[in-house]
Formats: sequence, structure tokens, C-alpha cells
Amino acid sequence: MQILPQQPSTKGPAELFAGDVWYDVVAAGQEPSRMRVNVVRFAPCARTAWHCHAVGQTLHVTEGVGLVQSRGGEVVQIRPGQTIYTPAGEWHWHGATPEHFMTHLAMWEGPGEGNGPESQWGEHVTDAEYQAR
Ligand code: MN
Repeated sequence: MQILPQQPSTKGPAELFAGDVWYDVVAAGQEPSRMRVNVVRFAPCARTAWHCHAVGQTLHVTEGVGLVQSRGGEVVQIRPGQTIYTPAGEWHWHGATPEHFMTHLAMWEGPGEGNGPESQWGEHVTDAEYQAR
């Protein structure tokens, strides 16, 4: 057993996130584990860019009020206790509402060696997309 040293929080990079987003790595499994778990904290208006995950992703909201959208779908409000699953390869974004912070657990898996990138990242979510609700 290991009790791991606590790592400092990381600021989400501006290429991948708009606004103030900070994450803490809870688990980054070493092969053969492909587990990835982050706690992600979004300030009001902050959100990810459009992206998708090679093996899908589960989000679990722990605090605040957030928004999530799949490509071509509605912007949906998400609240503490809710769990959101995005299948492999489905383009989406997640973030806080304009009025509230939002914290979620993000759980996903690495694709395994030689199977390409964990996640693909695209363009930022425009204000018009963000406000379409
Ligand atoms: Mn995602």
C-alpha cells in the first residue's frame, strides 16, 4: 500500500479550457491500470474546449451548478449528485454556469499503449454556443 504525496493543484491550460479551471489528479493508473480520476473545479463561465475521449468519460458533479453539451445536442444543466456518461469518441464540453462555480469528478481511461491519444481536443466553445440554453 502507498499513501501518495498530495500534488499541488494544476491550472487548466488556456488551449484546453476557457476561464479559470483547476484540477487535482486523484488517480493516474500505471499500466496495466488505465484509470484516470481528476477533481476539476470551474469558476463561473469557465468551461472546457470541445473534446472527446478515446474510451469515454464519466463525470460526477460534487458542487455547484454546471453545464454539459454533446455535439448537436442541447446544453443541459447538471447538479451535485448527477452522473454524466459520454461514450468513446463523442465530442462534448463541460463547465460551470455563468452564475455558479462547479466541481466534478472526471473519470476516464487511457486507451492502452499504441492505441492513440487519451483525448482529442478541438476548438473553444463560443459564447453563442455557451449561452444557447
Ligand atoms: Mn470530457
